[in-house]
Amino acid sequence: MEEHQGGCLCGQLRYITKGAPDRAAVCHCRYCQLRSGSAFGNLVYFADDQIEIVAGELKDFHFTSESGYAWQTRFCGTCGTTVFCHLERRAGLTAICAGTFDPPSFWFDLNREVFTRTKAPYLGDITASEHADTMAGYSANTPQPDYLKGKKEE
Ligand SMILES: [Zn+2]
Ligand SMILES: [Zn+2]
Repeated sequence: MEEHQGGCLCGQLRYITKGAPDRAAVCHCRYCQLRSGSAFGNLVYFADDQIEIVAGELKDFHFTSESGYAWQTRFCGTCGTTVFCHLERRAGLTAICAGTFDPPSFWFDLNREVFTRTKAPYLGDITASEHADTMAGYSANTPQPDYLKGKKEE
């Protein structure tokens, strides 16, 4: 069976995945930019029971997106690497932050590139099956402070 391993920067948190992922995406939304500290998020989704934490402990942070959906980010309390995300819209799935896989880290194909409206201008074309300005079913109905707004003009 397909198996992958990964963990955080300091090495205390380690996980194993079993089987093929459900999907993989690049996301340019504000939340992914902030939680990663980078230009975009890269998430590989597995069913919760395909992932086993084999060492270490995680801390959790909860917030609600501008679409009104709950997010949970799970990160190493020592080095701060965000390793997993749980999205209310993707219940039953755990998203693994793609950069945390052991080398070769980026072994998956991308299904989607989403929230390109806030894509960093210096990024080129990303190879994915689908591309979207936001995402299917998106609506910004929950007020957010300016620094979290996906698009300031809205
Ligand atoms: Zn760590
Ligand atoms: Zn995102």
